[in-house]
Amino acid sequence: MLGIIGGGQLARMLALAARPLGISCLVVEPADDPPAASVAEVIRARYDDPAALDALAERCDVVTVELEAVPVDALEALARRVPVRPAPAAVAAAQDRLAEKRLLRRLGIATAPFDDEVHGLPALVKSRRGGFDGRGNRLVRTPEELASARFELTDPIVEGLVPFTREVSILAARSVRGDVRCWPLTVNVHEHGILRTSRVAGAEPQSLQREAERLAGLVLDATGYVGVLALELFDVDGTLVANEMAPRVHNSGHWTIDGAVTSQFEQHVRAVCGLPLGDAWAVGASVMLNCVGEEPDAAAVLAVPGAHLHRYGKSPRPGRKLGHVTVNAPGPALLAERVDVLTRLVPFVV
Ligand code: AMP
Repeated sequence: MLGIIGGGQLARMLALAARPLGISCLVVEPADDPPAASVAEVIRARYDDPAALDALAERCDVVTVELEAVPVDALEALARRVPVRPAPAAVAAAQDRLAEKRLLRRLGIATAPFDDEVHGLPALVKSRRGGFDGRGNRLVRTPEELASARFELTDPIVEGLVPFTREVSILAARSVRGDVRCWPLTVNVHEHGILRTSRVAGAEPQSLQREAERLAGLVLDATGYVGVLALELFDVDGTLVANEMAPRVHNSGHWTIDGAVTSQFEQHVRAVCGLPLGDAWAVGASVMLNCVGEEPDAAAVLAVPGAHLHRYGKSPRPGRKLGHVTVNAPGPALLAERVDVLTRLVPFVV
């Protein structure tokens, strides 16, 4: 039995990938009727509920997380009773933007300038903890805006703006034995701080791919990581600057379900369960489009050649990720045509 802390769409897709391997999942989630509920057993409790942690320790062979906002004390207590992968320390580093930046810098990985290094405005003020999908971030243009953002956001850090040409991410997996596999670099487009599309079209220079893999490998090895990790990067004219890392499967890797030899979800299950990793090559070119705020017309989406729809079973609300569509094509021209059609069909309501 694989324990998963968190019952959202990532847990749902992990449980779906575990099933063919004969692995069942036990999920802890406080929310009512979470996305994982239709494919896994759910204990409805807070992530640090003692009885829920007892159940995980007693019934699971290994426990993983689908989100980083898990109390580290609870993970550490659990890790004394059952293997927790990735290790609590890796999750802790990713929870705190300051700790994360210090870790990245210690490994020689470039990040945005922060705190005392920031000279001049505009700049970004971010909450150290709890921010995702652009929440807890504020762009400030004047000293007055900077002062009020520093006062209003909890535990703020100030970041200099990185003049990036593109945003990319590298997804990497490390096994218990220390083998590492990386998927091809994914090019990500965000709107209102929320991921809109991820594209893998096999067009990235090999040197950039190798550099991204090197950076991910540094983080994986330094933290003794087991599982899938995402490293979000700014591409500044061919130089990579790290934005943040996610100690888990990641939205920018959803295309791997339909577009890679091994999906990030299957790979994570393989890694944390001590199984060998699978190949991470892309099969053709893929684009993933997030369905945000409203459900798309399923029949219209599925009428597009090469399109796959994944729905998470969530109720619609502006800004909420309800599902995603991945479309594949043998080459970039056909892919662009299909993406044009899907962009009109897939809602992005924030
Ligand atoms: P984050 O919450 O750190 O993932 O930031 C959300 C989005 O804000 C990123 O995907 C970028 O588009 C943008 N962003 C974050 N930090 C910076 C930065 N230092 N410079 C420029 N853009 C940024």
